Amino acid sequence: MATKQVTLKKLIPPIRQWEGPKTQRLVRTPGDFGLGQVPVEMKPDATTNVICGFCSTGCGLNIHMKDGQAVSLTPTTDYPVNMGMACPKGWEALTPLQANDRATTPMIREQRGGKLVATDWHNALTEFTTRFKRVQKEHGKESVAFISTGQIVTEEMAYLGALAKFGMGIKHGDGNTRQCMATAVVAYKQSFGFDAPPYTYQDFEESDVIVLVGSNLCIAHPIMWQRVERNQNNPEIIVIDPRKTETAVAATQHYPITPKSDLVFFYGLAKILLEKNYVDEAFLEAHCEGYQEFYEHIQKFTLDEVEQCSGITPEQMEYLAETIGNGQRVSFWWTMGINQGHEAVRTAQAIINIALMTGNIGRPGTGANSITGQCNAMGSRLFSNTTGLLGGHDFANAQDREKVADILDIDVSLIPDAPSMAYDQIVNGIHDGKIKGLWVIATNGAHSWIHQDRYKEAMEKLDYLVVQDMYTTTETVEYADLLLPAAGWAEKDGTFINSERRVGLVKKVAKAPGDALSDFNIFRLITDYWGCRDAFASWTSPEKVFQLLTKLSEGQPCDISGIKNYQQIDAQGGIQWPCLPQDVAGLNKDNQRRLFGDGRFYHTNQRAKFIFADPQQVAEPTDKDFSMILLTGRGSSAQWHTQTRTKKSAVLRKLYPQSIYVEIHPDDADDLGIKPNDLVLVKSRRAGVTATALVTPTVQRGQLFMPMHYAKANQLTMGSFDPYSRQPSYKFCAVAVMSAVNTSPS
Ligand code: SF4
Repeated sequence: MATKQVTLKKLIPPIRQWEGPKTQRLVRTPGDFGLGQVPVEMKPDATTNVICGFCSTGCGLNIHMKDGQAVSLTPTTDYPVNMGMACPKGWEALTPLQANDRATTPMIREQRGGKLVATDWHNALTEFTTRFKRVQKEHGKESVAFISTGQIVTEEMAYLGALAKFGMGIKHGDGNTRQCMATAVVAYKQSFGFDAPPYTYQDFEESDVIVLVGSNLCIAHPIMWQRVERNQNNPEIIVIDPRKTETAVAATQHYPITPKSDLVFFYGLAKILLEKNYVDEAFLEAHCEGYQEFYEHIQKFTLDEVEQCSGITPEQMEYLAETIGNGQRVSFWWTMGINQGHEAVRTAQAIINIALMTGNIGRPGTGANSITGQCNAMGSRLFSNTTGLLGGHDFANAQDREKVADILDIDVSLIPDAPSMAYDQIVNGIHDGKIKGLWVIATNGAHSWIHQDRYKEAMEKLDYLVVQDMYTTTETVEYADLLLPAAGWAEKDGTFINSERRVGLVKKVAKAPGDALSDFNIFRLITDYWGCRDAFASWTSPEKVFQLLTKLSEGQPCDISGIKNYQQIDAQGGIQWPCLPQDVAGLNKDNQRRLFGDGRFYHTNQRAKFIFADPQQVAEPTDKDFSMILLTGRGSSAQWHTQTRTKKSAVLRKLYPQSIYVEIHPDDADDLGIKPNDLVLVKSRRAGVTATALVTPTVQRGQLFMPMHYAKANQLTMGSFDPYSRQPSYKFCAVAVMSAVNTSPS
């Protein structure tokens, strides 16, 4: 179907030499962005397809309109990702748009502790500009930072990152994506030379051995699990996970390793693969470097040590090695169980090393495959302009800065020459008094950030906090001095990039309520109010920005310069990167594209690198006072992250417990006198949380599991981080548990 065009007044003057931010006459108002209108050129009873706005699977959904209103949806049957399937969140994707706590007008808090009260866009943006400029004047440009998200469209991410850094002089900005996939980014960059998940979803169907590590695919990525179920090769499905998850129950082999013993486990596995001659020496010789050093490194990881550390016996390890070694097409997949660890990057690389040494990469059904989380985490990885410069470029590289400045027609001096602080460093910067102003866009850190109380203390220390969000009731909005009301998914246009690198379209099929605007149009207004419009003269619509991004990607591994417009993406059923102009002729809806089929990686010498390290102690081992390990993670396929959207659906609410619960092993429960559904107190060194006991052998003795969707879970977690990716380690902290009878509820 035809791409919809937002009708904007063409009030932008011709490009002239950019002279840096300055005050200038405002000639645009919110009304110029279609406020109060439904600017969709669509037949009132049309059906159109969009990409789901929850997870990184990137399913296609058909939105059905009646009398100009989006009234229902069905999964798209001919979309190559989901083939007519959707999980509960996808089926309910329209419901959260109707919630009665939608932000419908800008809101301002005149004094701390007071209420947010409605204001208009002019007042809100005048306040935004005046307050942030004052903070920068008093404390330096670097004293204002932003925290963004993997939930907005790529064009908005790019606009935000460019506006903040090239227009507002902000140096530090990161995304909530730091919480889910920073590890994979760093691991791939170091091992392959670029952040390049190599797979296509068809690989789930073509493997004869599927190894899932720290990944509960059944509920975290249910449609990817459906792709596994379509596999006609009767595959061995191996789950490596401390918990007996839904996926572990459905697998043919489950290895319940001790939490955070992964690195020892994989080095031991590599050693036994080597000893059993399951090494692809021709591949190593032709396409890798560092194998000899890796060979020497793994010699010390004996099966006895693996058993002592991970609990997996030598016989189990031998059987696992034989299954992998005898597989013809072995694929390795990991998610947050790996990414959210204290030595996460090296663990991800231990998995990559095994794929490389066994030659399981670049062929159908193979790969060292990180599955990401949010619907547009992959867009953020390439185009958010936070820790990496637009288009997968490097802030520290002068040539990259020149290229970007040239394409954007801005002065190169506007581009910072170093990457941003990471999320945890920004939070620390607030505590240290270096960051005084913060702009939070479409994320809810007061719920989701690790060691929550410390995050909340940081929010209270800020001189000025702006939150830009769809809702008025998130935990983070409680701290906001200013709330900017944003449109949600399906209320705006743009693109997402899914886990298999597929660029897909999001379309405006519903009007945002009240005075809410798309994030894109909020950024355009801020551009004007801040006085830096000249630098963004060509950033007039999401599609125009997309075309800029395709230019920025030219010559990069993620080159998408073959994609000329949104219609092309629609017609092809999404397009995986890379897509150069010469690739376009071969595209069709069944086209599945994986990387490294030619064995050439992105390092200068085109070889993949073996990278490894000695295992490190967790930051907070158990002891006599806190003798149990707390794991956190996804609870059900009906819940999404901090539940700002999924809890709005009565249908979804029926699919999961409404109050916080903790899984505890029956033997531990017996020892502690805890019965099913008792209230228990879970205590860490940071807080105590009362939860309902779910007595179940899904967790091992000495371990507890608490879903991350309940805000209190992160009162318990400890702020420790992988040293390379700075991703938080949500998967291990020391706690104690006791009956809540005779204890005060938290
Ligand atoms: Fe949406 Fe993910 Fe569910 Fe697909 S699996 S419908 S993308 S939430």
